[in-house]
Amino acid sequence: MSKLHGWVSQKMFAPIWGGYYPEENHVGYVTNGVHFPSWAATEWRQLYARHFDKKFMSDQSNESIWHAIYNVDDEEIWNTRMALKKKLVDYIRDKFRETWLKNQGDPSRVVSLLQKINPNALMIGFCRRFATYKRAHLLFTDLDRLSKIVNNPDCPVQFIFSGKAHPADGAGQGLIKRIFEISQRPEFLGKIIFLEDYDFRLARRLVSGVDIWMNTPTRPLEASGTSGEKAEMNGVVNLSVLDGWWLEGYREGAGWALTEKRTYQNQGYQDQLDAATIYGLLENEIIPLYYNKNEKGYSEGWIKVIKNSIATIAPHYTMKRQLDDYYSKFYCRLAERSEKLHANDCQLAKEIAIWKETVAERWDAIKVVSKESTLEEAAETGVEFEVKFVIDEVGLDDAIGLEFVTLTTDEKGEDRIAKVIPFKMVNREGNIYTFVCNITPDKAGTFKAGVRMYPKNDKLPHRQDFCYVRWL
Ligand SMILES: *Cc1c(COP(=O)(O)O)cnc(C)c1O
Repeated sequence: MSKLHGWVSQKMFAPIWGGYYPEENHVGYVTNGVHFPSWAATEWRQLYARHFDKKFMSDQSNESIWHAIYNVDDEEIWNTRMALKKKLVDYIRDKFRETWLKNQGDPSRVVSLLQKINPNALMIGFCRRFATYKRAHLLFTDLDRLSKIVNNPDCPVQFIFSGKAHPADGAGQGLIKRIFEISQRPEFLGKIIFLEDYDFRLARRLVSGVDIWMNTPTRPLEASGTSGEKAEMNGVVNLSVLDGWWLEGYREGAGWALTEKRTYQNQGYQDQLDAATIYGLLENEIIPLYYNKNEKGYSEGWIKVIKNSIATIAPHYTMKRQLDDYYSKFYCRLAERSEKLHANDCQLAKEIAIWKETVAERWDAIKVVSKESTLEEAAETGVEFEVKFVIDEVGLDDAIGLEFVTLTTDEKGEDRIAKVIPFKMVNREGNIYTFVCNITPDKAGTFKAGVRMYPKNDKLPHRQDFCYVRWL
């Protein structure tokens, strides 16, 4: 899904592996990507074919190939964008004319609405499922301010909303109703446009046709989000909360981001703050940049943002990269592991099973014979101290590891691992093992610390595979 969602999952699953902290468990993640040949418009695929290395399609995650976008004339980029905006406008006029005439009564208003859709306006799309966490309503927090933004005759702005709510999601359906009603007000007619029947065809036109793709999820509920990735490969830039994929994807100068940090616990306040941030970005940065047009009719600054986003973001969000990640992080490792475990009539699997049984049987009998520490009171930065444990392994053959764990607290007051330092086994006499750890604190502050004992075996894939832990 995404790196952030990986962390959310580590926390969700942490209670299964008592004795370890969420950041230590083996739960991983793969960030979603989108299928380039399906989502890049024909016009862009042709442009890439003209300018990119021939190996591009089989080497899609190679950023250096995408960097060739910097050598493309601004005019060619702009013409490609304009062609796709016109295609979108034609598609809307064609697809919705009949339905709107039938459903919305007042033919003169429908015709005027269709005429107002303007490929020369700055077009911003918000199109996805209307789940309430995605906050489609955010833009409508201050209607007066929004009206001033969209009704500036020198710098017209149009918002296109589209999406469906789940049949059982009454609140999501309520959002659609509210946005539709706002779109029918005289000051927003043809400025806020709601398109019904969101589907893959319409999505393809929208993610390649608008100028900006906007997303405003409630942090941290957007597990990934993929429509913004589709936009990237079509020269459409993102304006989004740093949540889901955009927390990883955003690069300065290649789109716009709302911070991932929550300022307020109260969601109403947070919504107001986020809305004000979006209005401010539009008024002070985005609209002036878009309309800073040269004599050829386009903004060089805007093309720069498009080029930056194609060169530095798009290469990392294709299905090619996603599959490569699945192979390298999971599938290949799993296949290798499985092969090893199965070899020679499952020799390794049997060996590990017997070892686990023996350790499990004796685990509770393992005794701390003695412990010593040269630390007298508080540890001092830069001053080394030594901790020594003598352990009776009750017949186990060097099956125990010890480690010194220091903890810190995060901004939510939860314990987080600061450092884990392994003990060295320095002496063995029969069942009696001596472990020593030398610690030199390198950071000032208050840290909790403890010593953790665990079954030690290099042949295990990870600690959670045999999750016996005892804090000493
Ligand atoms: C890509 C896509 C989505 C996913 O959009 P998000 O912004 O990730 O929620 C939803 N619907 C359609 C039709 C899509 O093509």
